[in-house]
Amino acid sequence: MLVPPFEMHVAKSVEDAILLRSEFGDDASFYCGGTELVLVMKLGLTDLAHLIDIKHVDELRTISIDDSGIRIGAAVTYREIENNPLLAADRPEFVSMISGIANIRVRSVGTLGGNLAFADPSSDPATYLLAVGGELEIGSADGKRRIVPMDGFHTGPYQPNMQDNEMIVSVRLPRNVTGGVVVHERMKLKERPNITVAVFASAVKGKVTQARVAVGSVGLVPVRFDEVDATLVGIEASTLDERLLRAATIARDSISLFDDANGSVEYKRHLVDHFVQKVARKAIEAVL
Ligand SMILES: Cc1cc2nc3c(=O)[nH]c(=O)nc-3n(C[C@H](O)[C@H](O)[C@H](O)COP(=O)(O)OP(=O)(O)OC[C@H]3O[C@@H](n4cnc5c(N)ncnc54)[C@H](O)[C@@H]3O)c2cc1C
Repeated sequence: MLVPPFEMHVAKSVEDAILLRSEFGDDASFYCGGTELVLVMKLGLTDLAHLIDIKHVDELRTISIDDSGIRIGAAVTYREIENNPLLAADRPEFVSMISGIANIRVRSVGTLGGNLAFADPSSDPATYLLAVGGELEIGSADGKRRIVPMDGFHTGPYQPNMQDNEMIVSVRLPRNVTGGVVVHERMKLKERPNITVAVFASAVKGKVTQARVAVGSVGLVPVRFDEVDATLVGIEASTLDERLLRAATIARDSISLFDDANGSVEYKRHLVDHFVQKVARKAIEAVL
């Protein structure tokens, strides 16, 4: 289907973009890489008269790394992340996760901000950010900024926890200063992942001291469970198998699943069980 005619407005700043969005209301949407938005428009699922191009806003286009952490502007493309040597040095597993998203055409224009704002249930970055304790910087028209955790930002499919007069300005990741390890894996049978699991683990003297397990792309939103993480803390080599089994069982039984074209609830429970054990084992064996 052809995209119906629309008017494109090029925003000069975050505030300018939000003001334009407020001016045109429900007739308008932010436009970044367009990989999701144009698809939705072509399918006739939305009828927008105005697109607000945010790709040229300087503040959304930069990557910085300092003692306070890593900041990636919302309009930075996946390719720019893949080609950033500072990120590759500090967070190689993050860059590797990004390199596995979609295909080169999508990664050339698709952005981290667009992914998280769209809140598709099958999101690699949302799962990864949950495991590392990532945060988002949200901007509003009055110039105010708030920092919110990734945990809780997706309240349902395609439902980011943001008002219409707000936008994602940047994504924040902690630097890897703890010596911990993050492992992110996905299984894809078609274009988008059927499951994504990310696990952060750190250990001192052969014992796990911190763990965060995130499971995404299989339920309505990416999730983590305190009880799963608590089961992994304290693991030593001798208790690894038994505790991994227990943690995976808790994850499998706690997650809310539904039957759909990607498989039955039973099949998805099996995926969760298998991938939580596999990915947590990799992360924990790397730190023990
Ligand atoms: C073929 C294909 C395969 C894919 N495979 C994967 C995969 O394996 N893993 C995965 O995680 N994802 C996958 N995706 C999803 C892809 O990662 C996202 O489409 C992309 O990141 C969206 O970014 P964009 O800049 O193109 O967003 P756009 O399409 O420009 O925007 C998407 C939505 O977000 C809004 N928006 C954009 N930026 C902001 C902002 N800064 N603040 C507020 N709202 C904003 C827009 O208004 C729009 O509603 C796939 C997509 C395709 C088409």
